[in-house]
Amino acid sequence: MKVAVFSTRQYDQEYLDKYNTGHNLTYFNEPLTAATVKMAEAFDAICLFVNDKADKHTMEELARCGVKLIALRSAGFNNIDLHAAAANHIKVVRVPAYSPQAVAEHAVALILTLNRKTHKAYNRVRESNFSLEKLLGFNLFGKTVGVIGTGKIGNCFCHIMLGFGCKVLAFDIAPFEELKQYGVIYTSLDELLQQSDIISLHCPLTPETRHLIDKAALAKMKTGAMLINTSRGAVISTKDVIKALKTGKLGYLGIDVYEQEEHLFFKDLSEKVILDDLIARLMTFPNVLITAHQGFFTREALQEIATTTFRSLDQFENGQKLENEIALNLT
Ligand code: NAD
Repeated sequence: MKVAVFSTRQYDQEYLDKYNTGHNLTYFNEPLTAATVKMAEAFDAICLFVNDKADKHTMEELARCGVKLIALRSAGFNNIDLHAAAANHIKVVRVPAYSPQAVAEHAVALILTLNRKTHKAYNRVRESNFSLEKLLGFNLFGKTVGVIGTGKIGNCFCHIMLGFGCKVLAFDIAPFEELKQYGVIYTSLDELLQQSDIISLHCPLTPETRHLIDKAALAKMKTGAMLINTSRGAVISTKDVIKALKTGKLGYLGIDVYEQEEHLFFKDLSEKVILDDLIARLMTFPNVLITAHQGFFTREALQEIATTTFRSLDQFENGQKLENEIALNLT
């Protein structure tokens, strides 16, 4: 099949080339937008990542270009208008579980770094500053960790935190019963917010979860709590979180995702002026750690993304059932 791969980085190409099952791939560095959609002309399928946007208008253009399949290299699909895809007879597949451990482990990395300040210690020691002043952390053992969303990633995260000796509270609209036998306690969102020392977000971005962590939710949280977001940027209201950081209500923030990340992440902007004042403000806090959507970024995950994507392309080409098709009722 002729496939246009958008938002390609060197590592995407390396892994896609390695596991290609015979498809004709054309790589574009550009993201899919209303402005770049014409690049999909005469391709059978397009392959997208998290910051490619396929809204109603773009979907109509894709259909006009002859595109019949969108293969997402991601699990999340909040950037795709599935109703418009169906209306234009375009199928959408994703990689539902390329490595939940990768993202869960990254969430833990954010917690440990924020807590024990290893990023600051590293720089200090390189300058022969061996002082411990201002590096004081806390034991994770015995702390209460709140997990919002206990699907594949949240599930792995719960197990890791149980291993640290934490009390794990969870909130999910569809609880995963099995977790209870390991000691995870499902509770209401309000109780989780009130009781947790650390809160980690692992729910998808949906109309219900947009700005789930806003002014009201932050007010319910323990003063000095730590908030970790590796799900999608807009699950938290960045403006409200900045206010809570200023007052000290929020003690730490670790984010791998950001509301306006499509203008920033996956690019080297080191010689550019950052025009986004919210992220610029976030970067000034000593108790904020930002990574640029790298939770998924392990060798194992890239291999799984590539092999699952080619399995979907093969299934589509052979007229077989698409095992990873996104059903409309998933939204
Ligand atoms: P999943 O579908 O397995 O689990 C999501 C869980 O969230 C489900 O149990 C669901 O019931 C729950 N949920 C849905 N709506 C909810 C709500 N309103 N309140 C509470 N819980 C709710 O998904 P997953 O594979 O665990 O991934 C979770 C999210 O992580 C993805 O949607 C994606 O946005 C994000 N993600 C980030 C990265 C990264 O690199 N940072 C990589 C992969 C996925």
